[in-house]
Amino acid sequence: MKLFIIGPPGSGKGTQAEMIAKEFNLKHIGIGDILRKKVLEKSKDGKVIKDHMDRGDLVPNYIVDKIVNDKTKDVDKFIVDGFPRDIKQAEGFKGKVDKIIYLTSSDEVIIKRLLLRKRVDDTLEIIKHRIRVYNEDTEPVIKFYKKKKLLLEINGNPTIEEVFIDLKNTLKKIFFSKNSWGKFSP
Ligand code: ADP
Repeated sequence: MKLFIIGPPGSGKGTQAEMIAKEFNLKHIGIGDILRKKVLEKSKDGKVIKDHMDRGDLVPNYIVDKIVNDKTKDVDKFIVDGFPRDIKQAEGFKGKVDKIIYLTSSDEVIIKRLLLRKRVDDTLEIIKHRIRVYNEDTEPVIKFYKKKKLLLEINGNPTIEEVFIDLKNTLKKIFFSKNSWGKFSP
């Protein structure tokens, strides 16, 4: 099972990815978390990452693509959260992916959740900027995968537990139900 999970900031990608990883025994690769760790490690790319994250801009693709390709290389079962955030990232992924979970959420709900979270990049001004970046850069990714019939749309507005049950059951149906030839799909 090779999954990406995308959705607007505050849609609950990280939370759901963690729960799904546990449920299906997948490696959880949280791009936002990895980037925040790299800032703390004061690595070579740390300053570049910090500057972009603090503004609510996307971190340059040469950094993100390398992380994703490295972390997913030779891994059979994974869920990557927060990737791809633009078409270039989608095209830059070298591996195989089975499904892209698209967690939807209304602006009202996500702003409320993000303000409660109180992360450094969760001020109203930066949140609005991140939503703008999301609408401009990430929305096209959704169309891209919809065309390829890889998109799995899940409503992220209900409670964490309700969203999890919906997502879990949808994945079970796709990955663990027998198709008409009596074979497990895909
Ligand atoms: P959220 O999705 O709630 O905003 P994340 O932790 O997923 O939280 O992302 C926080 C920030 O990390 C983004 O605003 C961006 O600066 C950076 N980031 C995360 N994933 C990517 C990515 N795939 N490409 C570029 N930047 C990213």
